Amino acid sequence: MKQAVLVVDMLNDFVTGALKCDRGLAIVPQTSKLLEGARKAGVPVIFCNDAHLKGIDHELKLWGDHAIAGTKGAEVIPELRLCEKDYVVPKRRYSAFFRTDLDLLLKELGVDTVILTGLHTHMCVRHTAADAYQLGYDVVVAKDATDSFTQEDYDYGIKYLVATYGATITDTDGLLKEWGVK
Ligand code: ZN
Repeated sequence: MKQAVLVVDMLNDFVTGALKCDRGLAIVPQTSKLLEGARKAGVPVIFCNDAHLKGIDHELKLWGDHAIAGTKGAEVIPELRLCEKDYVVPKRRYSAFFRTDLDLLLKELGVDTVILTGLHTHMCVRHTAADAYQLGYDVVVAKDATDSFTQEDYDYGIKYLVATYGATITDTDGLLKEWGVK
């Protein structure tokens, strides 16, 4: 088994900006701890970031402008300290796989299991899980490093991931223990 951590949309606009989410802000400390552990353990960290084209992208009609490519709002939140050995996959739809090179990157890294984190459990995380599952990856969710606008959306999201993709639900401490790092 070879894992990678996918960090979905932990960007300024999703946490503190245009689509501000207090529950997203609340998962930052655990997410940061998880990513530090992954880097120490040599588990690849892949940021899957909305990078929308203003006036073009379909999704902006529903959500309004957010994470426009090249703006501050589209940058990874500073607390997660994006570093040189991390990978960044820009995306223009909910799923981190849709018309991106994520599948190619995972294949070349030899990854067969994706650990999902980030926002939102029932939307971009769910759509990313769908494609991961359909492409043959095992899906793991770090439940304290993902969230949604509401508890209801989060609970529904987790339930759906388990029922539909057989997702394994774990948490930061469980993964750090598995990796043998603190
Ligand atoms: Zn978007």
